[in-house]
Amino acid sequence: MIRFDHSYQRDVPGTFLRQVPDRAPAPRLLAWNDRLAADLGLDPAVQGMAAGWFSGAEPVPGADPVALAYAGHQFGGFSPQLGDGRAHLLGEVLDGQGQRRDIQLKGSGRTPFSRGGDGKAAVGPMLREYLISEAMAALGIPTTRALAVVATGETIWREGGPLPGAVLARVAASHIRVGSFQFLAARGEANKLRALLDHTIARHYPHLAPGDGLGLFDAVTRSQARLIAQWMGVGFVHGVMNTDNMALSGETIDYGPCAFMDAYAPGTVFSSIDRQGRYAYANQPLILGWNLARLAECLLPFFDADETRAVAIANERLGAIAGIYQAEFLAVMAAKLGLAAPDVRLTEDLLALLPGQDWTMFFAGLGAGRPLPPAFAGWQARWQAAGPDLAAMRAVNPVVIPRNHLVEAALQAATVGDMAPFEVLLREVRRPFDGAEGREGYTLPAPEGFGDYVTFCGT
Ligand code: AMP
Ligand code: MG
Repeated sequence: MIRFDHSYQRDVPGTFLRQVPDRAPAPRLLAWNDRLAADLGLDPAVQGMAAGWFSGAEPVPGADPVALAYAGHQFGGFSPQLGDGRAHLLGEVLDGQGQRRDIQLKGSGRTPFSRGGDGKAAVGPMLREYLISEAMAALGIPTTRALAVVATGETIWREGGPLPGAVLARVAASHIRVGSFQFLAARGEANKLRALLDHTIARHYPHLAPGDGLGLFDAVTRSQARLIAQWMGVGFVHGVMNTDNMALSGETIDYGPCAFMDAYAPGTVFSSIDRQGRYAYANQPLILGWNLARLAECLLPFFDADETRAVAIANERLGAIAGIYQAEFLAVMAAKLGLAAPDVRLTEDLLALLPGQDWTMFFAGLGAGRPLPPAFAGWQARWQAAGPDLAAMRAVNPVVIPRNHLVEAALQAATVGDMAPFEVLLREVRRPFDGAEGREGYTLPAPEGFGDYVTFCGT
């Protein structure tokens, strides 16, 4: 009933292990994304099978479940073998636009890459990925999607105690990560690296010729620079920008301890394990460059046959990343400010005034013509002189983002069996640009009593 293909397994042998998902004892469908199912061209009857199929309880006809191998720098330290420790790629489908998309189960059991982990996931974090990735998609930001969340009927154990288990069915342009290249490069697998390069080019950047590693690097630089600029524009903090969590497709991937900031503070960190602030809000553009440097190291043999020349090319490209990112960020900010052209001074002067203001409400208010605090008077006069287009601003500045206190409340309710707050919040984050009228409960930052928001990686 799902027409699967398996081009990754055909094209890049030696980078995955066949592995059957665990059988969920009592699967129950918690969330089903019917719009995405329609985009994927899935038979409507799939919904009736979803609890069994997307929990691992029943084998999916035509699937070829595999755990993918990859390496990765985690918080700067290299692990030559990570891989899918709790995920199974079922296969690829061609969507309504003819785009190839992976369907993967996450939380579906142990694999040879599980190391000490149990291979499982809890209801809360899987619904969290569902909610935040749907919000990102509605915001127009490239992202993996969530097709379904199925409660497994199992109890899993985390630091805080027992939790209901769940599996997320995730849809992605692919699951090829910087870490996928690092895995093969670290093992000196030149032929497989070339196969992965060609598969990635054919799949994501088909205008490039096979073997064009430099073309791929430039294309990934552009798509990732654009992606991070879009994150910055909505105040999104990914939280774990390890090289295994950076997709070559340019999609946001692996929603762990991510969150949106309320008050603008460049040093904002939510993840409990990011004590140094490596992946803080304002550090994300720098980490982009750091991660791309790791990708360049893998692709050096394809930059030039002569190693010295290859390194020189890589250094030239790495030196250009900051400028490429800055241009993308200024374009995002120009759109947020309703300006026809980027304006460095106006953007930087605003950012200097902005700490402490709610990031989302500030821009939404600006587009709605609401008065600004007195400290902004001089800046506001210059901005107005630039002739901002308020209607255009309202189309790009969200009124509703997934506010942390609302996300937490929805997930806590879902964990004890009440899906209603999740469903209401999902509806709201799916229409971020609609007016604020009648949505007051969804537009405001967390109340004082909510305190500093801390997210946990052991999801
Ligand atoms: P993540 O932080 O979700 O990107 O995961 C980082 C690595 O840890 C990946 O290799 C995951 O497959 C693995 N991992 C995370 N959670 C678990 C778990 N509960 N069991 C096994 N492996 C896990
Ligand atoms: Mg990951």
